[in-house]
Amino acid sequence: MTVDTASFFTRAVHAGRGQQPAASRATPIYLTAGFEFEDFDHAASHFGTGAGFGYTRTGNPTVQAVERQLAALESGADAVLLGSGQAAIATALLTVAGAGDHIVSSTHIYEGTRGLLLDNLSRLGIETTFVDDIADGDEWRAAIRPNTRALFGESIANARNDVLDIAAVSAIGDEYAIPLIVDNTLATPFLVRPIEHGAAIVVHSASKFLAGHGSVLGGVIVDDGRFDAARAGHNAPHLVLPGRGGLASVAERHGSRARGAYARESVAPRFGASPSPLNAFLIGQGAETLGLRVERQSRSALSIARWLDAHDDVESVDHVGLESHPHHATALRYLDGGFGSIFTFTLRGGLEAARHFVESVDVFTHMTHIGDVRSLVLHPATTSHAYRTEEEREVLGVRPGTLRLSIGIEDPTDLIADLDRVLSGVREVVA
Ligand SMILES: *Cc1c(COP(=O)(O)O)cnc(C)c1O
Repeated sequence: MTVDTASFFTRAVHAGRGQQPAASRATPIYLTAGFEFEDFDHAASHFGTGAGFGYTRTGNPTVQAVERQLAALESGADAVLLGSGQAAIATALLTVAGAGDHIVSSTHIYEGTRGLLLDNLSRLGIETTFVDDIADGDEWRAAIRPNTRALFGESIANARNDVLDIAAVSAIGDEYAIPLIVDNTLATPFLVRPIEHGAAIVVHSASKFLAGHGSVLGGVIVDDGRFDAARAGHNAPHLVLPGRGGLASVAERHGSRARGAYARESVAPRFGASPSPLNAFLIGQGAETLGLRVERQSRSALSIARWLDAHDDVESVDHVGLESHPHHATALRYLDGGFGSIFTFTLRGGLEAARHFVESVDVFTHMTHIGDVRSLVLHPATTSHAYRTEEEREVLGVRPGTLRLSIGIEDPTDLIADLDRVLSGVREVVA
């Protein structure tokens, strides 16, 4: 008996296996939990060395192709794809820190990351100190302790559009042999590649610009491959000490790529936030048009920011492309090809004006997402930043009349027409 002569039930799951590989130009989607071993020794060698593919949680060809694409776009040595941006940030932080360790983070970060640091990593014994004025090197230095294992910040932050001086902060990290981790979600590697400026690790929510179409979640960690065991080993004992059962250390096995290897071998597959190969495919396909989208979105966003800035009903616009923004000079040093397309502006009419605004938009969509091909609007004070105190919101640039825009790829003329119509209505409601 062979599969061909087996019963219906058996043929249903075994017929048609073993197709020949074909030279697909688009990345094939290996939507499979696992991979067949060629023989006895192949299985043993996969488990012994990790080479090749065995099980999708530890490696998958579609996922690997996208990891290589994103590592190349970020000028990194290695990338690990994960199921969401939060999973990527958690994995990156757990790659560098453990119980008893400490992280120094910018205050101007995604609320989900802040919650992870304050509510979850704190319970694992990892403490965080926040830096309010990220342009002040002394504030970063003062926050560093002997057990600090990473500095963390966002290249462009929401809501105030603060821009991190990546070279300055990574140089401070270097003085203490501490890696700088940069969340580059809002800028994307089209506008800035933090590793080229000294950052050690870049993380993304791939759910945003990388995938680009608002259809999947994903996250990625990109490592610079510049781990120096002699200089930084004292801050990373898990990379330089022998492994369980006397195994050679990660640094002995992977050299300067030890940190990325540890994330891939130990943290990502154990905590288990693996991406679906289908989602990986969609992220890789999205990233093919990243530059086209971000270039246009950034151009449209700047013209919309200028238009809003000149509008009587608008109190202020926090867009780093405007000459009036306090970080404009820093942005000019780091951002090449645009200033991004996510920014906030504040209506003079306060909360009631904001309520009318989100309920009146037509071309814009009212939802909590960014980096989509569609233009989106959200009222941060009652949504993403609702759990902050009013004083904290003020520091973060989130007031009752503040709205966040994420500009898509529509014709900017249509976007401005939508805003013009909505703002005329706002005046009637508030007056
Ligand atoms: C959305 C976002 C995240 C979290 O990513 P998810 O894919 O939603 O898990 C982290 N950082 C920034 C800057 C984000 O915008």
